[in-house]
Amino acid sequence: MRKLKRRKSYSRGIGKLFVLILLIVLVLGSFFYFRDMTGPEVSLSPQGDAVSTSTVFEFRTEDEGSGLRSISILATQNGVEKAIRALLLDEGAMKHDLAFSLKDVGLKDGQVNIVVRSADRSIFNFGAGNTTVKTYSFLLDTKPPRISTLSTAHNLNHGGAGLVSYRISEPAIQSGIQVGDYFFPGYLQANGDYVALFSYPYDMDEADFIPKVVAEDAAGNRNLSGIYFNTIEKRFKKDRINISDRFLDSKMPQFESLFPNEASNLDLFLRVNRDLRSENRARLGEIGAQTSPSPLWSGSFIRQPQSATRSTFGDRRTYYYQGKKVDNQTHLGVDLASVKHDEIVSINDGEVVFADFFGIYGLCVIVDHGLGLQSLYSHLSQIQVAAGDVLNKGDILGLSGMTGMAGGDHLHLGILISGIPVNPVEWWDNKWIENNIDSKLP
Ligand SMILES: [Zn+2]
Repeated sequence: MRKLKRRKSYSRGIGKLFVLILLIVLVLGSFFYFRDMTGPEVSLSPQGDAVSTSTVFEFRTEDEGSGLRSISILATQNGVEKAIRALLLDEGAMKHDLAFSLKDVGLKDGQVNIVVRSADRSIFNFGAGNTTVKTYSFLLDTKPPRISTLSTAHNLNHGGAGLVSYRISEPAIQSGIQVGDYFFPGYLQANGDYVALFSYPYDMDEADFIPKVVAEDAAGNRNLSGIYFNTIEKRFKKDRINISDRFLDSKMPQFESLFPNEASNLDLFLRVNRDLRSENRARLGEIGAQTSPSPLWSGSFIRQPQSATRSTFGDRRTYYYQGKKVDNQTHLGVDLASVKHDEIVSINDGEVVFADFFGIYGLCVIVDHGLGLQSLYSHLSQIQVAAGDVLNKGDILGLSGMTGMAGGDHLHLGILISGIPVNPVEWWDNKWIENNIDSKLP
């Protein structure tokens, strides 16, 4: 009897253990089964409409639960599937990046869908795991825009300006004139043509000056077209500037807050003449983009009345201090002097885009005349306009002075095309404007 009893309790014990193990297996099993019920995350860039066969797509997929099992990428067009990529991933892969293009996939220009699939290692869905499928739509465009140049006879003075008009076969996201590293944007006009003002930059050698019209469509297809042009060389003047202690003592305090750690006035002068000058020039490029897409000017440009030219455009200046050469810079405007605190006028119609203290230029006003053409009035003693003001040719914008890097009361007049200084003298020549600019506008 005692033996039987023991056997009974023994088998009861086994039963309990079995139930316990079953429970544990169920709990663990359902834990693993339900642990990862969501598919991997996927992302594709670029997003947007138009792509070309050189567009690089970047695909990323990530699964924080059970990790990644497989990836497939394909394109569909008119119901036909074209494989792009398919791969199985090693166990433990939680994230995968890959780049691909539509080159050699065998697609035609037009609507195309890219379907991306990413599966994880989860045992959910009766072992099948979770799969994320996403479809992205694009317009495949492999044809670069065609460019037809409309204007002829582009004759450019060294340091001067010119204008090109051209037509593009499809809407461009960017077009203009590329000259070495310089880019001069073109602007779409009401009649459907583009126009771009550009320059034979003062600091470019003749051999490097090969202007080209460039156009890029929304898919990133780019085309280039040469233009016929002639260059007219100019010998820029050399100018010697002696820096006196009196000049340094009177001019440097206004810049001390910008460069507080310079040991001497001469060191401060060199920081201003080099670093601040190039910083100010870079800013002119940004201001140059704030322009009207159509011309605001009309007819001839006026020269500051009753003023004498003191320095010309492109002067190669060498700076001396106590008889020693300390710096070289190029003068990129025209210095006009008259009476002190002379009333300074806008050279043509336009809109004020800058009116403030501006580094080496001191108190400065910049007027936009459209198509990237801007005039800059510097060293003013007083500004009488504000950004946003619309000016007519001859309107007073301030009084002359000697703020910034000026040794005496004068107007430094700059003319800029997309922030690149050009010779102002051309713009006072009505025949030059008619032949080179106005006659080429639509
Ligand atoms: Zn000047």
